[in-house]
Amino acid sequence: MNGFNSEREGALNALLADYAAGHLNPALHSLVAAHLEMKPDNRSFVSSLEVVHARALEDVAPVELSNRQAMLDRIFAAGDRQAAGAVRKPSASLPEALYAYVGRDLEDVKWRSVLPGLKEFRISDKGSETEASLLWIRSGRRMPAHTHDGQEVTLVLKGAFTDTMGHYGRGDISIADGDIDHRPRADDSGDCICFAVTDAPLRLTGPIGRLLQRFTGH
Ligand code: ZN
Repeated sequence: MNGFNSEREGALNALLADYAAGHLNPALHSLVAAHLEMKPDNRSFVSSLEVVHARALEDVAPVELSNRQAMLDRIFAAGDRQAAGAVRKPSASLPEALYAYVGRDLEDVKWRSVLPGLKEFRISDKGSETEASLLWIRSGRRMPAHTHDGQEVTLVLKGAFTDTMGHYGRGDISIADGDIDHRPRADDSGDCICFAVTDAPLRLTGPIGRLLQRFTGH
């Protein structure tokens, strides 16, 4: 078996399990909810995890079936409900769960240029350790080489990118940590837009990155 693939699946399953158990911070919760909107196939997997979680709760206190159903409904409707108060344009480009978290659609994002071919929009983290950003990588461009002090979870919203772990397309989640030093590269077929959540600042490792780090104070 390919080591990277099983590792990749294991990390994703752990993330989905934490989601099902309600253990994720708001940024990661929105990221996984958006992933499930884009990749509905994983919903059945999350539902089965929720059954396991509900059974574990039953050992402590009986949970009525109707409560469990309400819990599932609540989890899957969370994104829709949060966005219900806002009127979205017909051109809406973000999954509901992410729109509710970011508070605007891609068309209304005020991008900040980081490097030629790389733009960023940071979402305020409301006092948590977590940093959440939308990233725009121009077709064929690379992110600066970097590694991570914590975990970096990235959801592809548009286009696709490749790094040392594989190829990620729309709706895919990439999970990277301190063991991985990478330079994600957007496919040549179009610009790549991602939502990335990190629990510690990235550590830039390449020569350009180190120079940039001095100026941005990361
Ligand atoms: Zn990374």
